[in-house]
Amino acid sequence: MNFKKTILILGGTTEAAALAKELSLEAHIRIITSLAGRTKKPAKIAGEVRTGGFGGVFGMVAYFSQHNIDEVVDATHPFATEISSNAKLACKLSGLPLKQISRAAWKPNTGDNWQMLDNIEAAKSALPNGARAFLALGSQHLDPFSSRDDIQFTVRMVDAPAQPLGFNHITIVEGLPGRSVDDEKKLLETHNISHLVCRNSGGGRGRFKLDAARELGIAVVMIKRPI
Ligand code: NAP
Repeated sequence: MNFKKTILILGGTTEAAALAKELSLEAHIRIITSLAGRTKKPAKIAGEVRTGGFGGVFGMVAYFSQHNIDEVVDATHPFATEISSNAKLACKLSGLPLKQISRAAWKPNTGDNWQMLDNIEAAKSALPNGARAFLALGSQHLDPFSSRDDIQFTVRMVDAPAQPLGFNHITIVEGLPGRSVDDEKKLLETHNISHLVCRNSGGGRGRFKLDAARELGIAVVMIKRPI
């Protein structure tokens, strides 16, 4: 097929997959979604998919030229700051238009008990002795909590960890975030959670755990977005 233009979507999010689906309905537009490759079995994405890092800004510039990219959409996660800053510079160097799609941050509702903190270290220190904490964080952000031997942790992971996590007291729940507030309530109740730790990622599905926490009177330790 003769394409009029090629759009590269920097993905790894629900929003990126939705955009790929929408744009792939348009004839004559070639859609390529780029994934970092962190998830073993990512959900199916419409259009073409490439996986793995570009090799920094200059690798990205080279990719644009090799694949005749006309436009770039950065639809990556709000906490994925490196890829977003690389995309800004690479597009500038290549003279390509860059569109950014970012989810709105969550805001507390009446009855929410959120403590807003700047980073993971602050979140770790904020948990009281004897807490039963649910860490709703990516696997690469768990490590700092492992020194809190006084806390029982629960984590949910899409893929079981390849190596032991190095925690003395941890329960691993395999699976995706719950599909409803009730799903999340069940999980928080089953593990008798006293504190929920998460980052302010935004997005509809991720909100269920926060609403569940409010309904159960669970304190939330919320890590603010990077500036
Ligand atoms: P990051 O720290 O901003 O990026 C680190 C490096 O990973 C980048 O420099 C790049 O390597 C590579 N990379 C990241 N996203 C990529 C993509 N979409 N396509 C190709 N290479 C990518 O990113 P991160 O926080 O590890 O997130 C990685 C991916 O997971 C992103 O696509 C993001 O949308 C998704 N995700 C992240 C989170 C999160 O909490 N951070 C949550 C859900 C989904 P090179 O320098 O070699 O190009």
